[in-house]
Amino acid sequence: MDDQTWLIVLIIFIVSGIFGYLSLVIAENKDRESKSWFFLGFFSWIFGPIVAGIVPPYKKSCPKCGELSSYGMRICTHCSYEFMGKEQVK
Ligand SMILES: [Zn+2]
Repeated sequence: MDDQTWLIVLIIFIVSGIFGYLSLVIAENKDRESKSWFFLGFFSWIFGPIVAGIVPPYKKSCPKCGELSSYGMRICTHCSYEFMGKEQVK
């Protein structure tokens, strides 16, 4: 490969990294597991952040009242039940 080809490969790699990072940040804001989102953005470019923006935030159901709470929450927003750890994820 000549110098120009390497430059194009480098640019593609950087753009992939930017889209991967964007997907990761959006997914993390929604309490979603972020590593797989990085790779989604890395390989699908603009579709990674778009899909990360469309999907609803991760929710877990409260064992006491059955309502859904944000995955990162330690206390149920509906009945103040304190989550022990690995609750059922929906
Ligand atoms: Zn609850």
